[in-house]
Amino acid sequence: MISVKGLYKQFDKLEVLKGLDLEIERGKVIVLIGPSGSGKTTFLRCLNVLETPTKGVISIDDETLDFSNPISNKRVASFRRQTGMVFQSYNLFPHMTALENVMEGPVTVKKESKDVVRQRAEALLNKVGLGDKLDYYPFQLSGGQQQRVGIARALAMDPKVMLFDEPTSALDPELVGEVLKVMKDLANEGMTMVVVTHEMRFAKEAADEVLFLDQGVIVERGKPEQIFSNPKEARTKQFLSLIE
Ligand code: ADP
Repeated sequence: MISVKGLYKQFDKLEVLKGLDLEIERGKVIVLIGPSGSGKTTFLRCLNVLETPTKGVISIDDETLDFSNPISNKRVASFRRQTGMVFQSYNLFPHMTALENVMEGPVTVKKESKDVVRQRAEALLNKVGLGDKLDYYPFQLSGGQQQRVGIARALAMDPKVMLFDEPTSALDPELVGEVLKVMKDLANEGMTMVVVTHEMRFAKEAADEVLFLDQGVIVERGKPEQIFSNPKEARTKQFLSLIE
């Protein structure tokens, strides 16, 4: 479903991604782990073209972007609509209620009818356990609740793949579980997901495959059992020994 070929990303002189190749099947949950600065966030942002890769080809289903050639904004926008992104810092609109935050994309970007969108948004907020908080503003919600609104907001656009960029790392420890539970439920429903996280428990329990990234290359990839209990590469072993 997702194919990445020869992906490079450079910021000025700093080459952050050095030729990544990857295929992701529909319905799979891929967890990216690796040291700080290894390029995980950059990779995720390239997948939805929040960063423009320097070189490479990315496909989601039948939409393909080849970054060796100029690409129109329209094609980028269409490509990006296939993905939903959840950020570390929630990025909710502070002046809108939970419900309005979830409705915003479908109404303004997709021009869908408000009545239809409202029903879907309510259902999504129910699904993430916030059916009783529809009219709350972000400042009235805990971090974990805000992040669940963030997930509902991304889902409201009906994406084919959900991208999570360290979704729990800004949360107090006692709030991490409620967000991971929503993510696990999504995974169990068959959503295709690419997740950057430091939550190794989530990786062990929910990932179909774990990718270890270091210095802009995929050093090792495999089933979580294999990566965590029997890593092949010295760099993976060293990283895991530091975090476990
Ligand atoms: P990770 O998510 O693995 O911690 P990042 O993808 O955030 O790594 O960053 C990889 C490297 O790219 C870091 O050295 C970081 O400083 C650099 N970097 C990320 N974004 C930018 C940017 N917009 N401009 C310049 N350098 C950046």
